[in-house]
Amino acid sequence: MADDADIASDFIDNEVSRALGKIRQSMTNKMGSKTCVDCGDAIPDVRRSLGFKLCVPCAEESERRNSLFA
Ligand SMILES: [Zn+2]
Repeated sequence: MADDADIASDFIDNEVSRALGKIRQSMTNKMGSKTCVDCGDAIPDVRRSLGFKLCVPCAEESERRNSLFA
């Protein structure tokens, strides 16, 4: 039971931070695609040059989500 509540709370936290990130991202979009597609944070040039569209925390979070719902 507690685990379900924790997962739900986690999920809501994620959705809130994603929504905030999207707002932030839409404000920085005009500057190009130097930001994470998920949260809008800047992605290091090296990481972008490797083709990543997510910052490190979001990539880890995305992996965690995938394994959670797999
Ligand atoms: Zn991110």
